[in-house]
Amino acid sequence: MSASGTEVASGRETGKNTVPGPVLLLGAPGVGKGTQAKELVKLWGVPQISTGDLLRANVAQGTPLGRAAKEIMERGDLVPDSLVDDMVAVRLGQPDTARGYILDGFPRTLVQASWLDSRVAAQTGALAVVAVDIYLNYNELLRRITGRRNCPVCQAIYNVYANPPQREGFCDVEGAALIQRADDTEQVFEERMRAYQELTAPVVEHYREQGRFAEVDGNRPIAAITAGIVAAVDLLRRAA
Ligand code: AMP
Repeated sequence: MSASGTEVASGRETGKNTVPGPVLLLGAPGVGKGTQAKELVKLWGVPQISTGDLLRANVAQGTPLGRAAKEIMERGDLVPDSLVDDMVAVRLGQPDTARGYILDGFPRTLVQASWLDSRVAAQTGALAVVAVDIYLNYNELLRRITGRRNCPVCQAIYNVYANPPQREGFCDVEGAALIQRADDTEQVFEERMRAYQELTAPVVEHYREQGRFAEVDGNRPIAAITAGIVAAVDLLRRAA
């Protein structure tokens, strides 16, 4: 425990006083970043910042950003860096990010990564970014993407194969009819994977080279992956 009464992220003592700092969840579409981010939010009490969720909210609300992003997202391509960086800057400026945050789906290009690195480095007293890459093979990613269903009310994520709701087609928490994202089709998945290989795989290498990087196997039960991430962040923070 530090003098300020808080703990650096710890697999053993993790809780609402934990200070995980900025944690990046990296990995291909469908690997389970959103599911894991939600588990970490429950454990650490820091916000999940999902650029995909923020962009979808903008699309739903018909904002200028949403109108610019809609077609790009439907194709499975990446929204321009400057638009996404500005959106993330606004979110990071909110006070709930003080103890840290879980970035899910950002950065997705080297330009975004260097923007984030400079932003965090410029903040006095901020912990450095730690990155955790979740990996999974192509066929399993495809199965996860095509089986994914979302609750439109509470954003809970299900999978018809691996993590089905109790009543088929309906959210366990809200009872709402589950929806399938427009880009969670096999065809769009291929384009999203192409964008991932070309633009996001170098981001994984960027953080690997910087240290403060860990990999976890995504082909395990949800709780085992969460435990792997928590242990990795704990180790990386202690080594810093
Ligand atoms: P996701 O929910 O993370 O799978 O993101 C869905 C879509 O939103 C992606 O396929 C992109 O079109 C867009 N998107 C999300 N995050 C980013 C980002 N960091 N940079 C560019 N586009 C993004």
